[in-house]
Amino acid sequence: MARVYNFSAGPAVLPEEVLKEAADEMLDYRGCGMSVMEMSHRSQMFADIIETAEADLRELMNIPDNYKVLFLQGGASQQFSAIPMNLMKNKVADYIITGQWAKKACQEAQRYGKVNIVASSEDKTFTYIPDCSDLPISDDADYVYVCWNNTIYGTKYNKIPNTKGKILVADMSSSILSEPVNVEDFGVIYFGVQKNVGPAGVVVCIIREDLITDDVLPGTPTMLKWKTQADADSLYNTPPCYGIYICGKVFKWIKNQGGLEAMKEKNEEKAKILYDFLDQSELFKGTVVKEDRSLMNVPFVTGDKDLDAKFVAEAKAEGLENLKGHRTVGGMRASIYNAMPKEGVEKLVAFMKKFEEENK
Ligand SMILES: *Cc1c(COP(=O)(O)O)cnc(C)c1O
Repeated sequence: MARVYNFSAGPAVLPEEVLKEAADEMLDYRGCGMSVMEMSHRSQMFADIIETAEADLRELMNIPDNYKVLFLQGGASQQFSAIPMNLMKNKVADYIITGQWAKKACQEAQRYGKVNIVASSEDKTFTYIPDCSDLPISDDADYVYVCWNNTIYGTKYNKIPNTKGKILVADMSSSILSEPVNVEDFGVIYFGVQKNVGPAGVVVCIIREDLITDDVLPGTPTMLKWKTQADADSLYNTPPCYGIYICGKVFKWIKNQGGLEAMKEKNEEKAKILYDFLDQSELFKGTVVKEDRSLMNVPFVTGDKDLDAKFVAEAKAEGLENLKGHRTVGGMRASIYNAMPKEGVEKLVAFMKKFEEENK
């Protein structure tokens, strides 16, 4: 078996221990004679899986009791519609645009109401996070929306935007569980799990209870109404059972790693290895302002397209996979999520050094 170091932005690397455990349990989950894929979502066995997953996530993130945790389908993008449908009472929302995912969410919200872009970093290809200390928040805004970690551009918020009392909604798909966050600063936190937690298709929503109501936009599909899902404890219909089971294993894995403070320390250590190298390299350059660098997604360029392509190809031959950057940024991107071991980053930097020697 030859596992590579997989720097994909998503779906992305998962902890090897988790994959092995899942493999061991594939044919016979804990003596029940079937796999988790084959069991009823109404069985006690599955109730234990989803309840344990929720309890572990609550413990990891210190989620207060007045927040619901929903395990849903449709990925993060489905919530781009669900959020305005559930929250737009005045049909007004303020969006901060820091990349493609925020933009897509914003475009979707425009189908349902008046959307104000209160800040944007598009003027500099999303290489920074705008100052959000005194934004022109709309008086009648139902919520303020941010994408917390910008997977494509490699930036991350380090401060809670000043929403002037409005509900803050955050897409944390690519940074969830990489470091502690104070859940109470947010009305809604949601994440597609395929970046840092599990298999694609599952989206987890952490929603303050008072925001889960029957007062949704007319025409909201039953499945997209958070209250439907909350009242049924995420079991309104058949949930993505196997995906939830893997998420649960990753939550346990993070707990065994020491929780979110420990994850943060490890992630900072890993990111530092790469950023320190980029800061002194004569060939490679990071694309993001230092203050707003992501711990999870690290884009970099040589400035020469052909050389970038050569780098990606030669890295792959060394077992360093999926380093090609997003088409809108070019160059390279190393996604170094929770499950990327430090050795993977060290090996990448050693290879970058060698490549620089050979190509300068
Ligand atoms: C990947 C990603 C998405 C899209 O997730 P899907 O599950 O494919 O809909 C949305 N937001 C962010 C920040 C992402 O990284």
